[in-house]
Amino acid sequence: MQWLVDLLARSKPEYAETLATLKLPEDPGHAWSVIGRKLSLGTDQLLKIISNSGIPVADLDRIGASEVTRIPEAIARKYQVVAAARTKSHIQLGCADPMNDALAKELGFNIKHPVELLFSPPDQIANSLNRFYSANIGEAGRTLWVDEKELEKAKVNPEEAIARITQHILNDAVKLGASDIHIQPFLGGGLVRYRVDGMLMRGTSLPLTVRDSVLRFILTQADLDISNHTTPQDGRLRVLINDSTYDLRISYLPSHNDSRLVIRLLNQGRNFSLEALGFPMRDQQTLRQLCRQSKGLILFTGPTGSGKTTSLYSLLAGLNKPDINIMTAEDPVEYQLQGISQIEVDEGRGRRFDTVLKSMLRQDPDIILVGEIRDAETAQMAMRAVMTGHLVFSTLHTQDALGSIQRLVDLGVTQGQLADGLKAAVAQRMARKVCLHCAEEVKQRTPLEQLFFDNFSETPPLRAIGCESCHFTGYLGRFPLIEIYQPDSEARRRMRRGRYLEEPDLELNRSLAKVAVQAIVGGLTTIDEVTRVLGADFWGSIDPAHINVAMSMAGLELNDQRKPGFLLLGGDQALADRWSEVIDYPITVAADGPAAARILRRDTQIFGLIYNIDMPDEQVRPHMEGMRRHVAWAGLPPIYVLAQPNPELETALQQHGVNDWVTDPTDTLKLKQLCDEALR
Ligand SMILES: [Zn+2]
Repeated sequence: MQWLVDLLARSKPEYAETLATLKLPEDPGHAWSVIGRKLSLGTDQLLKIISNSGIPVADLDRIGASEVTRIPEAIARKYQVVAAARTKSHIQLGCADPMNDALAKELGFNIKHPVELLFSPPDQIANSLNRFYSANIGEAGRTLWVDEKELEKAKVNPEEAIARITQHILNDAVKLGASDIHIQPFLGGGLVRYRVDGMLMRGTSLPLTVRDSVLRFILTQADLDISNHTTPQDGRLRVLINDSTYDLRISYLPSHNDSRLVIRLLNQGRNFSLEALGFPMRDQQTLRQLCRQSKGLILFTGPTGSGKTTSLYSLLAGLNKPDINIMTAEDPVEYQLQGISQIEVDEGRGRRFDTVLKSMLRQDPDIILVGEIRDAETAQMAMRAVMTGHLVFSTLHTQDALGSIQRLVDLGVTQGQLADGLKAAVAQRMARKVCLHCAEEVKQRTPLEQLFFDNFSETPPLRAIGCESCHFTGYLGRFPLIEIYQPDSEARRRMRRGRYLEEPDLELNRSLAKVAVQAIVGGLTTIDEVTRVLGADFWGSIDPAHINVAMSMAGLELNDQRKPGFLLLGGDQALADRWSEVIDYPITVAADGPAAARILRRDTQIFGLIYNIDMPDEQVRPHMEGMRRHVAWAGLPPIYVLAQPNPELETALQQHGVNDWVTDPTDTLKLKQLCDEALR
């Protein structure tokens, strides 16, 4: 920004002295704010001085997407310019260095159109880039953009650049509230994905060299063996992100060309409480009451990712007092809880759940947490702990409360033992809350909503839509669906006689669905989300006669056994049929961006996107941005198909970090290969 210093010194002599002593930072954004601060001038005043001295100024607050996206994102970011308007002969670009003729020439050459440089404040440029490009494609909060500038830096000081990129990935994960980061290979490079609210969301893509360096950097930091390309490895790393301590659990699956890295982020400052998890008050009371018992078994059940461990931690945190001895056996220990003895199970070293539990009992704990009951030995040992007067918490990998009783019996626990020992079985799922920034009030019922109405005489109040706040998913945050089953005296009598499984409490099958119905009617979530989380069980328990109809209306198949498939953007049914034959996967056609988003929200069997690009150059970019904006949140790998060879477009794709594409129709084998890769 030296030009600006010179200009100010010339036009306002009173500033000359201050300006002479000014040490100007290299970064234009930084320089701009230093100049303003030193001279006590606001943006408007500075802009006025600039335009009065004959330098045209571009007002970036008034520009539209159609103008901006005339130039490719990669070029805009590389040169930090924003297309603001166009004249008969020139494209007018806002930039921080409008006097730079060499820049104008270089840009003109790259865009293949003469350009005129106007001045725009660097902060406005940064905002506009994020507004109209990647931040606008559903990746709000994404700050990382690995472009050629990064790569240049990486050549000069590779370690620093890679550390910075890694830092960015971690920061973004924290900003998005992600629980996991996935770094996986895709199309000759790498793809970063974040798991947010249980769903994978697409992050940035990394060029191959950067991906490899980032993997190497993380592995080295975690003391893992980077030369070992054959065995999976697990490691840990403690890092500070935004002043919070995180434990990273790193799991590395190597392969000579297909290495994958998954990082779980555990915020060690996290506060565990049932309130914070969103447990309804009534359930909190019931659970606290259960915990006041001095002995018994309390089970949490649900599939992986249903939040059972977090709930158990929250219960323990509430019970944790100096005069109570709490011990846990976990695989692995995820969070360290103050004042609780946590022992990590390590089957490789002979520390199994049952052996840890056995040695634990000699320490006379009051409360025991067994991470998971997986085998007969652990089940027996847990029941022995209960019978000898301990309060035992554990989890089981079953669908519902009834299933957990069946499972324990399968593991050799007698119904008689359960009659005395089982205090409660809690079934849990996490469902997403509908985003209130964009939710739509239901006025005309859809067939699915009508079916719901037929059963409950209530219309679900809200429908999920999608906006920037919720990364176009329609949902923001999660809450637990909880069913607490406590056998009554009649049920215990049947257990004692060994007749419980023949005459189970059918009622409890229904309760998760009932809780879900309340959540829908209360406007907390939607039918679609509940159908996704509970699947056929939901409709099976409330309206068995219409279960097939309901599932297909929700875009889900009963016992979804369909092959995984792709979503085609920018093509018609005939093309989908032709390619489907080639790749041997089903292809669904999306007419436009919103349609694509609707299909993706409902169809969980779509695992990849195919972009078909067959239109004149100038239409491609706005078209693709429009599509990407609606589907970016889904985190699905994209495959690009060009209708004919197109060097210009290919360069643009490369600048987006895409290193591979298919040219139709000559390349059908390659299309098949890319689709296979995407689903692997
Ligand atoms: Zn929203």
